[in-house]
Amino acid sequence: MKRVLITGAAGFLGSHLCDRFIKEGYYVIGMDNLVTGDLKNIEHLRSLPTFEFIHHDVSNYIDVPGELDYILHFASPASPIDYLKIPIQTLKVGSLGTHNCLGLAKAKGARILVASTSEVYGDPLVHPQTEDYWGHVNPIGPRGVYDEAKRFQEAITMAYHRYHGVETRIIRIFNTYGPRMRLNDGRVLPAFIGQALRGEDLTVFGDGSQTRSFCYVDDLVEGIYRLLMSDYAEPVNIGNPVEITIKQFGEEIIKLTGTKQQLVLKPLPQDDPKQRRPDITRAQQILGWEPQVTREEGLRRTYEYFKSLPEEELYKAANYRF
Ligand code: NAD
Ligand code: UDP
Repeated sequence: MKRVLITGAAGFLGSHLCDRFIKEGYYVIGMDNLVTGDLKNIEHLRSLPTFEFIHHDVSNYIDVPGELDYILHFASPASPIDYLKIPIQTLKVGSLGTHNCLGLAKAKGARILVASTSEVYGDPLVHPQTEDYWGHVNPIGPRGVYDEAKRFQEAITMAYHRYHGVETRIIRIFNTYGPRMRLNDGRVLPAFIGQALRGEDLTVFGDGSQTRSFCYVDDLVEGIYRLLMSDYAEPVNIGNPVEITIKQFGEEIIKLTGTKQQLVLKPLPQDDPKQRRPDITRAQQILGWEPQVTREEGLRRTYEYFKSLPEEELYKAANYRF
């Protein structure tokens, strides 16, 4: 049985990856320090003989007994309000955490895939973003803690590939959504749906003309799986190229939820990218991948999930654990 270590396993994407690898017949070791994740996301896996959970901060030396075939490094705060509240931890998990994962991959002879992000392009001057664009990042702005950690992550990953011959994969993930996002994580989709469910107005930052391109989680997981199984070591964008303004997105959520509330404008956070859309030519050519789930369908599934949560979840404040 092949063995895979997934860091960030109790988070949104990590928990979906655990599900996928269990389904594919792997022995899955989920690792997480629960700083932004929640054990309830993997509760359904914990009694399986092919799943184990290790509570550990990957910014510290990682010790995993036995063999490993694959490592998926997904541990990191991912939403702007999370990484603004825990900036040092964010820098550490992207740098030291990645270094530890790469060292483990080298020691075990495992192939490693690291979760990078469209944020490496910063507030992009090239649109849509191709993988050969080097980006436009403010290193000392508040978002720099995330963007620069992820840029360092890519650099050290390529160095381990070139210098140590470790089999590495780098995925640049564009805004992804779906069940198990945290309602209070501040990202736009849970923010809007949470506000609609609580009967509050929907807070649009800036004038809402900034764009994003939203990918449903199942499509992303398929892209990750294909990239891991490929022999391609350069970064690959995975995201849905259908672009929308945040104002239009708010209007879609109003329609989806049937709320009587309205959009209200709030100040735009510093360095908020004005536009974002992946060029997915590389993923199409190398992985034969493109998204299958329309935004209408993905939003419907995600709304069903949020509606099914106990009411107290709607009013829970973010709780960071160290
Ligand atoms: P999330 O916050 O739901 O999950 C992150 C998980 O990592 C949490 O369970 C958290 O507790 C854990 N974690 C954080 N620091 C850790 C540490 N030092 N040691 C061990 N565990 C730690 O976020 P997500 O949306 O699932 O994002 C997962 C990964 O994907 C991140 O690396 C993020 O940068 C990347 N990513 C996500 C998106 C997206 O749209 N969701 C986009 C680009 C990149
Ligand atoms: N946003 C918004 N209202 C909110 C939360 C976010 O208008 O309540 C905006 C945010 O300013 C950004 C976009 O929605 O322009 C996407 O934000 P998110 O935090 O989801 O992701 P990121 O900025 O990392 O793409």
